[in-house]
Parts: sequence; C-alpha cells; structure tokens
Amino acid sequence: MRRTLVVGNWKMHGSRPANAELLAGLLAARPYTADVAVCVPAVFLTETAATLAGSDIRWGAQDVSAHEQGAYTGEISAGMLHECGCRYAIVGHSERRAYHAESDALVAQKAQAALARGVTPIVCVGETLAEREAGQTEVVVKRQLSAVIHQLAHCAAEMVVAYEPVWAIGTGRTASPEQAQAVHAVLRAQLQAATGRADTMKILYGGSVKPDNAATLFAQPDIDGGLIGGAALKAADFIAICRAA
Ligand code: PGA
Repeated sequence: MRRTLVVGNWKMHGSRPANAELLAGLLAARPYTADVAVCVPAVFLTETAATLAGSDIRWGAQDVSAHEQGAYTGEISAGMLHECGCRYAIVGHSERRAYHAESDALVAQKAQAALARGVTPIVCVGETLAEREAGQTEVVVKRQLSAVIHQLAHCAAEMVVAYEPVWAIGTGRTASPEQAQAVHAVLRAQLQAATGRADTMKILYGGSVKPDNAATLFAQPDIDGGLIGGAALKAADFIAICRAA
C-alpha cells in the first residue's frame, strides 16, 4: 500500500549544463513505477522547477530555515521553497548535523517550518560507526526521531523519514538489507506508537545505495525507497535505482 519513493540528493554537486543533461535523462526514462524526486542545490530550484513542471518527477531542497522570515542572512524559508514548487525538503542530514552543528531540536523546528508551508520534510536519522559499535544505534535513532515527533505533534504522520547510517554515507559501505530492515522496523514501531498511522508513512534508506543493491534493500518490508547521493548524479544509475523499486 506504500508506493516506493526514490529521492536524489545532489548535495553540492551540479552545474547548469550538467543539471540540464541529468534532468533530460530522467525525463526521457519515464514512466517510473516509483515516485521519483530530486533535491537540488537551492540556486537551481527555479530552473529545475521549469524543467520538471508538468512531469510527475518532483523536486525539493536539501535544507530549510527554521524561521519563517526575517534577518537570517543566507537562510531560505519554507515559504520560498513552496514558491519554487518544492514538494520536499531534506532536514537533519548527517552532513548538516556534523558540519553545521544542527541539534535534534533545530532539525525538529525545521521539519515543522517545512510542513507549515506544505513542504514535506524528509527527516534524516542515523548513527555513527562509533555509536553502532557501542550498541547505541536504536537509542540514537529513536532520540533523533522522537524530537521531531514531539515537535510535529498531530502532523507527525505527514513527514517522510530517512534512515541513513552515517558510516554508510558516501563510503561504499552499504548497510545490509537485514541491518537496515532491523532499524526501519524500530522506527516504524516508534512512528506507530506516536501516530497510529505508520502503515501509511514512508521510511527511506540512504547510504551507498547503488543500482546493484537497490532491489534487495527496497524488497525489505519496512524499506519504502531510498535517499540517493552519489548514484543520483548519473542518469543511468539513478534511473536503474528508480526501476529497482
Ligand atoms: P550516498 O549519500 O548515496 O552517496 O551514500 C546518501 C545521502 O547522503 O543522502
């Protein structure tokens, strides 16, 4: 009953000519059985919107401000993302938690700011290698998710969750389907306890998803698709992952 969702996270990659080529490739490969979206650098949102308008490929941002508007130099509000036609905003990616010191509380506020403007937050959670080796995986991901559930309250069922073990991101070291499924099951139980609607919610896996491992990951009962970094930058790879759904 949950349609698979595959989201490309371009991170700080791309250029006008490269984006045009990549998006043309994705458009040419339609139709997809999965829902497909790309989260692009904010400066490219307007062009991405113009290119994808009228297609069923969605677009989104990689971050959003927790504030609605005001003197926040460099920030981009959810209202602005909404004006650019964004369906999604990634929040709490581990790179932002690590390099921009984003706390669980800030991530939760960002998720709320996005939802308030009709932009679906893709809330990333995940443990570091040290946390996994210390047996802390469940504690960490539940703490991260709990902050967002608390903040969103009765709207919590509207978010998308992405489980991205930090040790698997950009490392070529994917979580095994069993490792990922085990964490997804924990997250779904937590979402169910909070919302009663977890069977309708999407939980994506991210971290070195490639064309050759996507199908077995997506076949797990609680994995509803993927958040794809490196492999989203080549049309052929991303298309293959979308087709693995
Ligand atoms: P990766 O990145 O697919 O390159 O591991 C995933 C992500 O960071 O969202």
